[in-house]
Parts: sequence; C-alpha cells; structure tokens
Amino acid sequence: MTAKVIDGKAFAAKVRAEVATHVARLKDETGIQPGLAVVLVGEDPASQVYVRNKHASTIEVGMASFEHRLSPETGEADLLALIDGLNADPKVHGILVQLPLPGHLNSELVINRIDPSKDVDGFHISNVGLLGTGQKSMVPCTPLGCLMMLRDHHGKLAGLNAVVVGRSNIVGKPMAQLLLGDSCTVTIAHSRTKDLAEVCRRADILVAAVGRPEMITGDMVRPGATVIDVGINRIERDGKTKLVGDVHYESAAAVAGAITPVPGGVGPMTIACLLANTLTACCRANGLAEPEGLTA
Ligand code: NDP
Repeated sequence: MTAKVIDGKAFAAKVRAEVATHVARLKDETGIQPGLAVVLVGEDPASQVYVRNKHASTIEVGMASFEHRLSPETGEADLLALIDGLNADPKVHGILVQLPLPGHLNSELVINRIDPSKDVDGFHISNVGLLGTGQKSMVPCTPLGCLMMLRDHHGKLAGLNAVVVGRSNIVGKPMAQLLLGDSCTVTIAHSRTKDLAEVCRRADILVAAVGRPEMITGDMVRPGATVIDVGINRIERDGKTKLVGDVHYESAAAVAGAITPVPGGVGPMTIACLLANTLTACCRANGLAEPEGLTA
C-alpha cells in the first residue's frame, strides 16, 4: 500500500481563506475587525521567525496585528502590566506570548495572566481544565490542526483506536483530549511505555509528537492506519541540513493508509489554527455566532 499524502499546506491555505472570508463579512456587517497581539521577549532567532510569520499571516486574512517586541531584560512586572493592558483592550481579541520566555520569567505565571477568553494558544490553566472536562474552550493550535485534518480525512472518528506518542502539555495531552472528545479510544504513549511498537500497531490513528527524528518506523504502523507526524527535527544528512518528522516517512508511507509529510503537514496548520482561534475569540467576545468547522 502507498499512503495518501495529507497535504497540510493546501489544507492550511483553505482554512486561512475561510478565516479571511469570515473576517471580511464581520467587518462588513458589524465594523468589527478581529485583532491578534503577539508578545516577544528577547531575540531568540527561531521565535523571531515565528513572530514575523504570524504577523504576515494575520495581516493577510484581514485581521489587525499588534506586535510587542520587548528587550531580553524585561522584568516580570512590566510584562504582566503589558498583558493587563492587552486584556483590557477591546481591539485585541487574541493574545499570544511567544515561548520560550527568557529564564528569569515565570512562563506559567505569565500565561495564566492572559484573559482565558483571549488565550488563543489555549495554554491558560482555565482552558486546559475546560478542554479536559469537554467544555467549550480555546484549543491549542497544533492539536486543533491535527484534529481538523483527521476529521477531513475520516469524516467521523468515533470508535477508532487512536495512539498519541508524547504527553506534553502543548501537543500530546490536548491531542488525546480532542480525540477522546470525538469518541476515539485513546492511548497515550511516552518514554516509559513498554513495547511501543506493539502499542502503535493497535492504532487506526497514530499521532507522533515526540521530538526524536524518524523514530516511528513502518514496522510500528498498522496497515491502512492514518499517521499524523507532528515532529519538526533538523538533522544533518549528506552534508545538508534537512527537516524531518518523528516518523520515518518512506517506511511508514509504504504501510499507512494516509500520512502527513514533514515539511508541509502539521506545521502549516498551526498558524492557520491560530488565526481561526482569534476569529473564534472575536465572535465569542461580541456574542456572535462562531464560524463552523474552525473550532473543536
Ligand atoms: P516535548 O519534548 O515536550 O514532549 C515529548 C514527548 O515525547 C514526551 O512526552 C516524552 O515522554 C515523549 N518521548 C520522548 N522520547 C520518547 C520515546 N523514546 N518513546 C516514546 N515517547 C517518547 O515535545 P513537544 O510535545 O513540545 O513536541 C514534540 C514534537 O513536535 C517536537 O518535534 C516539536 O518540534 C514538534 N512540534 C511541532 C509543532 C508544529 O507546529 N508542527 C508545534 C509543537 C511541537 P516523557 O513525557 O515520558 O518524557
């Protein structure tokens, strides 16, 4: 079997186009423009690229983008005061603090200062609790993107066996909650799981969020399974730097029914879902109907 390739780049473009259509209609009918504020503390090169991409994508869909670039020495009190100001600003519907923060800042404290209804990353403890109890929340962008692709590919997910490899708070755990919300039978695997290959082979849906290059190989994939590769790893191969996932693509694609590539799979969906979350937050803040298909 050769797997169907789930094209995350094309899917993300479709989601961004849908968001843009909703934003245009919202502005037309109500005069409201959704706005996203991104806060970057310090000069981490990767974070700078992410923030630049987020700004460009926000403008592209017709939203307002508010960038706050702070020096690496910014104190906690100043950062919290900025967040308080953004929480109170009616033009700002979504707030994202780019992680990781410099070591002297307490990330948990900072994230939990964001108004949960503006927490478009879905990391605030209230949103974590709401998701865990199956209530309406802001959902972390990467797992939301995975869920959208899975729903698009499978239609209904109910009753499918899902295995999520990785139990981080930003990917593995919320991914498992979302799949449970769609009535999958969910197993979460991690570094202490016994016989990982055997656990993975039970999966109709296999999500890899590990951070170890090409760790999931074809012999760990059940024939016909859908494989979602969240991993982004830079490796040196044949003298070149290459981007690979947590799944060994060639061997897994030979067995799976469908698979996301790296790059061009889950990655592009993350920013698309950030925009979708900002639109959702704006609609909720203004008591308007939420766009269908863009939330969990
Ligand atoms: P973390 O490092 O926070 O978590 C990794 C998880 O993998 C942990 O739960 C760990 O288990 C588990 N793990 C590590 N080694 C093994 C092993 N040998 N067998 C089974 N499980 C193992 O990573 P993240 O969740 O933040 O990210 C995972 C990957 O996804 C990374 O490659 C990251 O770059 C990528 N990513 C991609 C995004 C995108 O937009 N596409 C967004 C976010 C992340 P334990 O808890 O026991 O230590």
